[in-house]
Amino acid sequence: MPVYTIKCPDCGHVFRGMVMEGTRKPRVWVCSQCKSERPQIMADRPAEPHPFECTENGGGCLCCGR
Ligand SMILES: [Zn+2]
Repeated sequence: MPVYTIKCPDCGHVFRGMVMEGTRKPRVWVCSQCKSERPQIMADRPAEPHPFECTENGGGCLCCGR
C-alpha cells in the first residue's frame, strides 16, 4: 500500500495520499486546505510503504517509534 507525497501548487500544502491495495491511484487529488484539484504527486519522492507495514522490515514503526 504505497503512500504518495502530494503537493498543492495553489497553497503549498504538502500531504500524503494512500492508495488502497487493488485500487488505482486517483487521477485528481483534492487539497484538504484549499480544496484545489491541482495537487500533484511529487515525482522526486518515491512512494513509501505504509508505516503499518514496516514492522516486518526491521525498521520499527514509523508512526510511534517502536
Ligand atoms: Zn491547496
